[in-house]
Amino acid sequence: MTTSIDTATLRQLDQSHHLHPFTDFGNYARDGGRIISRAEHIYIYDSDGNAMLDGMSGLWCCNLGYSQKAIVEAVYHQMQELPYYNNFFRCSNQPAVELASQLARLSPADFNHVFFTNSGSEANDTNIRLVHRYYDLLGKPEKKQIISRKNAYHGSTIAASSLGGMQAMHDQAIGLDYVHHINQPHWFELGGDRSPDEFGIAVARELETKIDELGEERVAAFIAEPIQGAGGVIIPPDTYWPEVQRICDERDILLIADEVICGFGRTGTWWGSETYGIRPHLMTFAKAITNGYMPLGGVLVSDTLSDVLLGSGGEFTHGLTYSGHPASCAAGLATLGILEETGIIDSAARDIAPHFQRRLREFIDHPIVGEVRGRGMFAAVELVRDKGSRERLAAKSAGAVYCRDQANNNGLMVRQTGDAMITAPPLVCSIEEIDILADKLGQALDATA
Ligand code: PLP
Repeated sequence: MTTSIDTATLRQLDQSHHLHPFTDFGNYARDGGRIISRAEHIYIYDSDGNAMLDGMSGLWCCNLGYSQKAIVEAVYHQMQELPYYNNFFRCSNQPAVELASQLARLSPADFNHVFFTNSGSEANDTNIRLVHRYYDLLGKPEKKQIISRKNAYHGSTIAASSLGGMQAMHDQAIGLDYVHHINQPHWFELGGDRSPDEFGIAVARELETKIDELGEERVAAFIAEPIQGAGGVIIPPDTYWPEVQRICDERDILLIADEVICGFGRTGTWWGSETYGIRPHLMTFAKAITNGYMPLGGVLVSDTLSDVLLGSGGEFTHGLTYSGHPASCAAGLATLGILEETGIIDSAARDIAPHFQRRLREFIDHPIVGEVRGRGMFAAVELVRDKGSRERLAAKSAGAVYCRDQANNNGLMVRQTGDAMITAPPLVCSIEEIDILADKLGQALDATA
């Protein structure tokens, strides 16, 4: 139980003792922090009494907002029944078993096994072990190289950040030397004079070039999000994924779809892979599986890999104390229950997402907006100084940071990646709430121009 501490003291204790993730310590020391004290529906409230519309669903995870009592109650009941036991050796627990089988039912037909972790980062670490173990068991131990994309975000552990392509993260820790990065399908940034479709094919073929460079017999897998989220909501041209799929199929490369953001409705279907017709071998999930209320992630494993792993009879030497934690899995089951019973994925895609995308696209005429892109319930607004040359608003994203702060201080939580303003509101938003979001974002753009 937390005791009641006044806001000024909380802020001071926070600055004295709490090391914040992904936070510029200089700015934080100068400006101080914000203590979030409660949340309801799609609004968060700070301890100064300010209400903020959460245009980011927390960190792309509270797709159903903050008032889902059924999830809270499921966790409460599970904690009373069995607050913890591990799943090592031959033990299991009912919520983990049920959740694994529900996920198998809701994923593509050839996905029948789940490995649970606490987070998306650990799930992507797990992917590396799974892929390496698979090829070892097939007698191809030289197949260890993994290809990913620049500016991708796949998590913060050393392995997951190596899979990721965020240069600022690589600069602060030495990553794995068997991960290689090709360009992201970012037409506005890299497309030049080419049409999106031409560019989509060309950038997909960088995968083929990289495979040739490394040697097909050494390349194990390609990992990518269906839509790159934290990297800037990069919407791939229509030609991109079919070409990547062709290359992976023809060159015997495992395809890992990181569904940590795209999964559970963000793109308008259950999985981003479904939206783009991708046929992956492994799917990473986390975040919205519990609506963000409890830590839980994992890997959905297709029969291609699980047949070999299980058929070997040997041990997969990997696991976490909290893999398949009963309370987290109970939260996952309750979340899936709400998603299915309410039909919210379909209704948001049908009734809310088109209005959201339409309202944001109106910003294309704004003097500092170069591109608006999005799909389903996420979008990016790219800020420019010059629309023709696509020169960005300010060096080192300063303009976008300013715009984000304008929005945040005006009661709208959005993020900024490079020069793009990012928003990914909860699927439970109403049309009126989307209008409030768009109006506030417009005000932030005006203040920045
Ligand atoms: N993969 C993707 C696509 C993500 O966006 C994230 C987090 O934002 C992760 C993995 C890492 O997940 P976590 O923060 O739960 O470790």
